[in-house]
Amino acid sequence: MKNKRSFDIIFVGGGQSSIFGAYEAINANPELKIMIVDKGQMLKKRVCPKETLGRCVNCPTCAIIYGVSGAGAFSDSKFNMDYRVGGDVHTITSKDLVNDTIQYVAGIYRDFGFGDEPTGLKYNDEMEKIKRSCIENDIQLVDTPTMHLGTDGSRELYTKLIDVLLEKGIEFSPNTDFLDFIIENNEIKGITIKASEEEEKLYSNHIVSALGRSGAKKMMKMCQKHDIGYSAGSVDIGVRVEIPDVIMKTINKNFYEAKMVFYTKKYNDKMRTFCSNPSGFIAAEKHKDDIMLANGHAYKNKKSTNTNLALLCTKSFTEPFNQPFEYASSIAKMSTMLTGGKLMCQSYGDLKAGRRSTEEKISRLNIIPTTTDYVAGDISLACPKRILDNIMEFIEVHDKVTPGFASNDLLLYFPEIKFRSTRMELDSNMETTVKGLYSAGDSSGYGSGLNIAAVMGILAVRDILSKK
Ligand SMILES: Cc1cc2nc3c(=O)[nH]c(=O)nc-3n(C[C@H](O)[C@H](O)[C@H](O)COP(=O)(O)OP(=O)(O)OC[C@H]3O[C@@H](n4cnc5c(N)ncnc54)[C@H](O)[C@@H]3O)c2cc1C
Repeated sequence: MKNKRSFDIIFVGGGQSSIFGAYEAINANPELKIMIVDKGQMLKKRVCPKETLGRCVNCPTCAIIYGVSGAGAFSDSKFNMDYRVGGDVHTITSKDLVNDTIQYVAGIYRDFGFGDEPTGLKYNDEMEKIKRSCIENDIQLVDTPTMHLGTDGSRELYTKLIDVLLEKGIEFSPNTDFLDFIIENNEIKGITIKASEEEEKLYSNHIVSALGRSGAKKMMKMCQKHDIGYSAGSVDIGVRVEIPDVIMKTINKNFYEAKMVFYTKKYNDKMRTFCSNPSGFIAAEKHKDDIMLANGHAYKNKKSTNTNLALLCTKSFTEPFNQPFEYASSIAKMSTMLTGGKLMCQSYGDLKAGRRSTEEKISRLNIIPTTTDYVAGDISLACPKRILDNIMEFIEVHDKVTPGFASNDLLLYFPEIKFRSTRMELDSNMETTVKGLYSAGDSSGYGSGLNIAAVMGILAVRDILSKK
């Protein structure tokens, strides 16, 4: 029987929110006893077999999304320096606080050696032309300064950061599944975890839950089980598109990533571009229930000749339906069933013509896919009509700003889904309706990017420290 283990703060999930939260805590008080629990491996051991085998082998715990340093570890870490991008936690705090804390996080990046100038600060003639074209076509261009680390640079940063956390005495429990919260009289007392065969209880009066997108469903179940305040939020469903760099050249050169928001004329639904990766690579993420989702990333030193970006449709539902999470999962399951466990890929030319893509037809295009984790098929068999109509309308309007975008060579990988449908009820310090239990990052429903995840982790810790 193990001794009862107690901590000043436990972070559930070892991603962006937790790492920056823990860094804030240990610097403020080096005496604190801190534990970070994560389902995946320590960062240095996170290896995706695809890097050597060239294809996804369906690991039981996907190294790309699970593991210490979180989903950010394999991302190219575009760090957006504006409250309008990466989430909407400013709606429960303030724009100034979020922006100030983003600058504070950028300062930590610089302390760890990443001093590159953010892109997108000053407009030149080409940028003005793009902005004008967006205005003419009813597209909102959310132009924010962005620091870009690259997948390799981001790995270096997190490796250094985690080494510092270990040196400062923070404990990590990798390969550990978070099972449950221990809550008494609406106060957090600890968590139940499972590493290997044994279950164990860890105790703390201060817990920061930051399970990321991969743990968003688990967080919703916890809310239901323990009556923690939450509401069903929205879900983002769409495609990851891949297009030759030459088409995106002006945008890539000037903005690196141009974040565009567009309300479709047909349904008045919100469409947005997300996570653009110039000269990047398509990533296939395996989620729970054998769902395969599209994503993308870019290295600083290894380049492809394609740009990838997500085109996402934000869907929220009114009464009586309140399960956006299940809705999106069902769509993903349908697609994964059709492909036998891979992404579905179709060229825009084939989609418009109403015929399925095949490998042979894709080989005739001016683009070589940067992944092999797909089956060429017909997205319209898996994607609801309204969402597909929205995607196609957005592609056509994007073409007006970026000529050539709506070409037959545009590849669409389906589905890309952002599971952040549970909107936790949080106060301005990230505390849930359970005393001492905080929620941060993607699984809180307020975050979708590295900047806001780090901000939320830090704000939660500052509140904890102010009460200790
Ligand atoms: C491929 C890719 C590219 C991206 N690119 C960018 C980008 O360029 N810029 C940007 O701003 N954002 C990007 N993002 C999003 C960004 O990575 C996330 O918004 C951010 O990591 C969220 O931080 P988090 O702390 O909320 O969750 P995460 O960083 O995802 O961490 C959650 C952690 O919880 C753990 N976990 C989950 N379930 C359990 C469980 N049951 N028990 C124990 N542990 C569990 C996971 O292993 C994970 O480590 C990208 C994401 C991906 C996947």
